Amino acid sequence: MDTEKIEKGTRLILEGIGEDPDRLGIADTPRRYAEFCREFFSGPNEGASSVIRPVAGEKHNEMVILKDLSFFSFCEHHLLPFFGRAHIAYIPRGGRIVGLGNLGRVLEALAHRLQVQERLTTQLADTITESLNPLGTMVVIEGRHLCLAMRGVKQLHSRTITSAVRGIFKTNPTTRSEFMSLLSLPGVRYDD
Ligand SMILES: [Zn+2]
Repeated sequence: MDTEKIEKGTRLILEGIGEDPDRLGIADTPRRYAEFCREFFSGPNEGASSVIRPVAGEKHNEMVILKDLSFFSFCEHHLLPFFGRAHIAYIPRGGRIVGLGNLGRVLEALAHRLQVQERLTTQLADTITESLNPLGTMVVIEGRHLCLAMRGVKQLHSRTITSAVRGIFKTNPTTRSEFMSLLSLPGVRYDD
């Protein structure tokens, strides 16, 4: 990552909004912002699927649900944060399960890049599906977008809800509604 470039760019933004970039309070801001970017953006090419490792020796064949995983990401249209919670369900194939902390790291790897919530949702579902090959995967993400809250229509409390379904969750409405009722989000639509 080119932090020097980010520092230069941040200085230009400060100038652009009419600030004096050498003013005491903000003289160090470009460096701080570049440091933040270096920490936050793990890089678009970092493989999220490499994070997933099935738990050796454990077998479980029923639905596994992971609720309320928090995440922070950046909207690529406005360069403003969006954040919220992800809920994941999958039904193991042949008992193959993944460590629960593992899925949190996958979400983080996918969220720490420029995103749109829809893509974050499908990438998460696809990564789990490809690396674990479960009978089915479903991901629901609830996000709050600062670009909606701070500009335009200024919807502070609106949540954007997206979902992605794979495998048995797509073909079996009962399985899907079992997960949805556990989330208490009965009105959520799923993609097809
Ligand atoms: Zn946006």
